Amino acid sequence: MIITIASGKGGTGKTTVAINLALAVASASESASGQPQEGTGLSHKGVIFLDCDVEEPNAGLFLKPTFTQREEVGILIPEVDFDKCTYCGRCAEVCQYHAIAVVGKKVLIFPELCHGCGSCTLNCPEGAIHEVLKTTGTIEIGASGPITFGQGTLNVGEAMSPPIIRQLKQRLVPSEPSEQLVIIDASPGTACPVVEAMQGSEFVLMVTEPTPFGLHDLRLAVQVARDELGLPVGVVINRVGVGDRGVEDYCAAEDVPILMRIPLDRRIAVAYSEGIPMVEALPEYRERFLSLYDRLEEARVS
Ligand code: SF4
Ligand code: SF4
Repeated sequence: MIITIASGKGGTGKTTVAINLALAVASASESASGQPQEGTGLSHKGVIFLDCDVEEPNAGLFLKPTFTQREEVGILIPEVDFDKCTYCGRCAEVCQYHAIAVVGKKVLIFPELCHGCGSCTLNCPEGAIHEVLKTTGTIEIGASGPITFGQGTLNVGEAMSPPIIRQLKQRLVPSEPSEQLVIIDASPGTACPVVEAMQGSEFVLMVTEPTPFGLHDLRLAVQVARDELGLPVGVVINRVGVGDRGVEDYCAAEDVPILMRIPLDRRIAVAYSEGIPMVEALPEYRERFLSLYDRLEEARVS
């Protein structure tokens, strides 16, 4: 199962939910050793965790992975061979992002606008464009105990995070249906990096908080995941006890299942501030995250 964990709003506890779900399932799978565990549908399965919040990856602070691979990644941007170029302007016409312009006898390329789509190279009638790699970030892959862990990091000053997310997913997400649980921790918001993270997922789990701000951004995130991408969605409400009933009422009206409620609990905040995952600081949460996993399985197939 491939799950993206998203949140319209930052700071709702998205990464906390992702990490604790991964730890609970990995630990139960290990102890199950191939046998379904009572009360869960789990048999032995691997867990793969992708931190796709590439502007600020922080899941590693809690999972403390050991990396065995590190690779610089980026996008292919055009470079013009002026011996062949006739300044016909075709490359600028086909570029949707205004990243290339032909002015008189000059071809100007704006790398910060280029999405690396390759359209200019394909459409140049003279074959005057070749592509060069512009490094925009890194991908690191390793393990955290039984969890396969990968993270992408966008270089400071770069704006184009989707290619890093795409390449991290290409490395780690199985291309065929698999028994493994793949957890993709997306960045907050509803912009291109989140869409890139969600694409190809079987379920999108939204983590929100029961406040008007949480509700506002949850609506936007549901619109993107369910209404635009056609993916099944469910909600975890974090810090239950603050705010109002707006999120509950919205989920009921929109038929969005609430799969878990996490109360406002000082012990969770203290564990977080010390970098200790909830399931380790408060072991009763192991069962609660395993129940979340079961509900995800049910919601995915229903
Ligand atoms: S399409 Fe090719 S030949 Fe035409 S201006 Fe661009 S680089 Fe030059
Ligand atoms: S690769 Fe795509 S985005 Fe970049 S300059 Fe060429 S057409 Fe524009």
